[in-house]
Amino acid sequence: MDRLLRTERAGRWEGRFGRAPVKRALRAALEEARRRLEEPDAPLPDADALLAAASLELERLHRPSLRRVLNGTGVVLHTNLGRAPLSEEARRALELAEGYSNLEYDLETGGRGSRYEHCAALLCELTGAEASLVVNNNAAAVALAINELALGRDVIVSRGELVEIGGSFRVPDVVSRAGGRLVEVGTTNRTRVSDYRGAIGDRTGILLKVHPSNYRLEGFVSTVSAAELARLGADAGVPVVHDLGSGLLEPELLTGFPKEPGVQGALEAGVDLVTWSGDKLLGGPQAGVLVGGAEIVARMRRNPLLRAFRVDKLTLAALEATLLAYRDPRLAAERIPALRMLREPAESVRRRAEEALAAADEGLQGVAVCSMFSLVGGGAYPGHRIESAGWRVGGAPADELESRCRSGDPPLVARVEAGALLVDFRTIRPGEEPEVARVVGAALTEAA
Ligand SMILES: *Cc1c(COP(=O)(O)O)cnc(C)c1O
Repeated sequence: MDRLLRTERAGRWEGRFGRAPVKRALRAALEEARRRLEEPDAPLPDADALLAAASLELERLHRPSLRRVLNGTGVVLHTNLGRAPLSEEARRALELAEGYSNLEYDLETGGRGSRYEHCAALLCELTGAEASLVVNNNAAAVALAINELALGRDVIVSRGELVEIGGSFRVPDVVSRAGGRLVEVGTTNRTRVSDYRGAIGDRTGILLKVHPSNYRLEGFVSTVSAAELARLGADAGVPVVHDLGSGLLEPELLTGFPKEPGVQGALEAGVDLVTWSGDKLLGGPQAGVLVGGAEIVARMRRNPLLRAFRVDKLTLAALEATLLAYRDPRLAAERIPALRMLREPAESVRRRAEEALAAADEGLQGVAVCSMFSLVGGGAYPGHRIESAGWRVGGAPADELESRCRSGDPPLVARVEAGALLVDFRTIRPGEEPEVARVVGAALTEAA
């Protein structure tokens, strides 16, 4: 150990990783070598072999748990893969905010400022809202709204909207944990204005409308629109909150997609408060946005829970940079990766898949370009399939190829459909094509 530690290589490692991890890696290499020596006729390892083993161990120890992956699933806003990829501008903003900033400092007066001012005016400009507030995520935005407006009071929700968004966001649980008392109205498939009206009483805190996100009701169905609910709330003097889910700012950028109200549309319906996510259709960082009237938003700002839900400086920086692109929708369509991916024509995706295959060497036998369907993800446009293209990888069992791609470097996450491994190029980012070819090539070789 002493001799290895004194080598020049170990000295360099120490400068980079610190002494303890280097010792740990060397110890592991030595222990492994000792184990091998117990076998008959095992050769004595030299210092170089021990250092090489230690180097691998150090790399393994140092590899971050959070890793970049290649998204070959075709799900643009894949919640398990970090939802929206950030724009170049947003990534640059992260660097600016990394050091000291005027996060809570007023550069004009030299006094204390508020972090909540940074995106506020821009959000109002883009959505037409009177006031806005950014928190950690949309779940926090909804919980804050319920806690402020309906603590110990009734939260009236349609039975058709008592949804689970995924994992741990279930509307009934969020309502009760935020301090509200859930009052269900209507039925799973049909709810009418009269159902809400009949439930309003002295204890009513809010009327809550929830975007059903990842599921769709079809058939004998009726729902109450945000506009109808807003009128009822105004008549009864009860605030109406709309959890919109995905924060679509420019619905006209997604032509060919089912109709969605967008943030402006939701506000124009007349509800008091609209909440949405930053990392769904907006294409920014994880964040929750509340927009609405000045008075109601001011109440949110005074709620003590705001501190627990408060947004981080890196998020604010990335969100502001993302929002700035929306001043010109054409720019947003170009610069924001999620929008760019959703809008890319199938022929263009196919061309990229073909070029990537042509550029790869003959190691990719068994790979063919074919048509497939992408999904939006993030609970937006459930069931809407986007025509796309990519690679169908044959030549080995699909499940085996899938797991080998997943353990590639970088890992490639692809999907198995009808017994074949599919790599959808819609979600492969420009420049990643050679990496996809390398990982798929290695998977095919290993499987052979
Ligand atoms: C996604 C979603 C949420 C949760 O948003 P997060 O930003 O992930 O916390 C809440 N409500 C609806 C309707 C959603 O679609």
